[in-house]
Amino acid sequence: MKLILPKAWIQDRKKDYYYKKAKAEQYRSRATYKLSLTAIKYPFIQQGDVIVDLGAAPGGWIQAARKIVGKTGFVLGVDLKPIAPFPQEYVRTIIADFTEPEALQQILCFLPRKPDVVISDAAPNISGVWDVDQARQIDLANQALQLALKLLRPRGNFFVKVFEGELLTEFIATVKQHFEIVKFIKPKASRAKSSEMYLLAMHMKSTPTMVEQAKTEETCSGTTSEEDWIE
Ligand code: SAM
Repeated sequence: MKLILPKAWIQDRKKDYYYKKAKAEQYRSRATYKLSLTAIKYPFIQQGDVIVDLGAAPGGWIQAARKIVGKTGFVLGVDLKPIAPFPQEYVRTIIADFTEPEALQQILCFLPRKPDVVISDAAPNISGVWDVDQARQIDLANQALQLALKLLRPRGNFFVKVFEGELLTEFIATVKQHFEIVKFIKPKASRAKSSEMYLLAMHMKSTPTMVEQAKTEETCSGTTSEEDWIE
């Protein structure tokens, strides 16, 4: 089915600086710059790091993270939708709903070790009803946080998309319980009129929810991988 987009929206997008830049630099999305510009200002991703990217399609953040971590690192992209594969051995993608309980094990199966950083640009389908959309966005951010707390190594970092609004205050309080430093980020590449913003949480405190990585052939066989991606 072909998606028909409003003409004004398409024209607006074409004029957009980061849209053009992403096209010229062969990035999969303008969102790439939201991560790369933040990571330049606050170097929370290092060369050699293991990264889990939640809500990763079409893969712009994967590209940004891959550049920073390089060959000695590893990036795992997770999305409900298939992501066109990357040729690099240190980049993998899986189709999964990270809010489902089985996602933890699915993710662990692909990781070489506990991740240093979990990033989430996951976004729900927008209904257009502000309260509903904000609640859905914060719920997704909270689910990403809960998963990050189980996955991350001690003192690991977390970067997540949120929407401004009432529910954000409570979410920030929860994040602050688990991380030593929490910053609000409105990346330049984020549209000024959008209520989207990001939280950067650094240095995870030790938490009882952390799980040991249990990878056995049994638990990891039959995991959906990018080989299931269909063009
Ligand atoms: N960061 C990406 C990039 O740079 O290309 C863009 C991400 S896009 C804004 C949001 C993504 O979140 C969508 O692809 C959507 O399918 C994904 N998503 C939403 N809910 C999800 C869930 N429960 N599990 C996995 N992915 C989810």
